[in-house]
Amino acid sequence: MESTNQKININLKNNIELFIKREDFLHPIISGNKYRKLKYNLEQANKLNYNTLLTFGGAFSNHILAVAGAGIEYGFQTIGVIRGEELENKITENPTLLKAYELGMKFYFISRTLYRDKENKALIEQLKEKFGDFYLIPEGGTNELAIKGCEEILTASDKSYFTHVVGAVGTGGTISGIINSSTEKQQIIGFSSLKGAFLSDVIRNFVNKTNWTVNDHYHFGGYGKINEALVSFLNSFYQETKIPLDPVYTGKMVFGVMDLINQDYFLPNSKILMIHTGGLQGIKGMNFALKNKNKELIQYDEN
Ligand SMILES: *Cc1c(COP(=O)(O)O)cnc(C)c1O
Repeated sequence: MESTNQKININLKNNIELFIKREDFLHPIISGNKYRKLKYNLEQANKLNYNTLLTFGGAFSNHILAVAGAGIEYGFQTIGVIRGEELENKITENPTLLKAYELGMKFYFISRTLYRDKENKALIEQLKEKFGDFYLIPEGGTNELAIKGCEEILTASDKSYFTHVVGAVGTGGTISGIINSSTEKQQIIGFSSLKGAFLSDVIRNFVNKTNWTVNDHYHFGGYGKINEALVSFLNSFYQETKIPLDPVYTGKMVFGVMDLINQDYFLPNSKILMIHTGGLQGIKGMNFALKNKNKELIQYDEN
């Protein structure tokens, strides 16, 4: 499948043009930016003759599922080190982990305390004793090779046409690749999906330009946190455009862009490209939680 730019046909103030790049179309399981981030890592693992990939993630991690999917497709065994021991007996209640499991991923559950310092030598050695040698992919998949992959998101015509490119930020890898490949005339805005001002420092280490900012006003209380206003925004955006957004990343970014347009943040005639980084598989898990609380569910087309 291919990633295409789709125009958002909603009347906007100030003659602003808004497009969304459907990276979510790239692959049904290795979704959106995770495909970009894994591409050169898989090449490297292959070149170094590893046959096992090991990575880290939380209960609803798009990255965990992407690595499991990449394992099947490219012939690697996969191991997911998962945050939270309590999840071990609850895989069947978790659509993300269940799917990764069905794709052959082996899990290793660790406590939140251990997880905080997950890349320390002792734990890595212990994992090697248990599982044999592996190619390690960091949490969220961000490393130099991942950023190289994300430098391929913008096409030549994206670089000449758009005045602004915006994307959701988790670990900062995706937006760093976009910044590196942008032109100096463009303004790049990352919308943080989590609390914390540290992201700008992380990104600064990966990039060589200054045409960017991180907006942290639209995290809705933190990573994975949502409220009724966000859900109702996702549903009305879906009804108007037929474009599904995930509640953890892309939904918060699009909410932020629309709000900033209304606040006249963008100059008249701005041409904005939003990156749809995928993550739609997470809706199912989120709806599971919403249903238990008798709240409005997120609408989307399961296929
Ligand atoms: C992982 C993810 C992100 C965040 O990407 P980073 O490179 O970690 O900043 C954004 N959107 C979606 C849908 C994701 O799954």
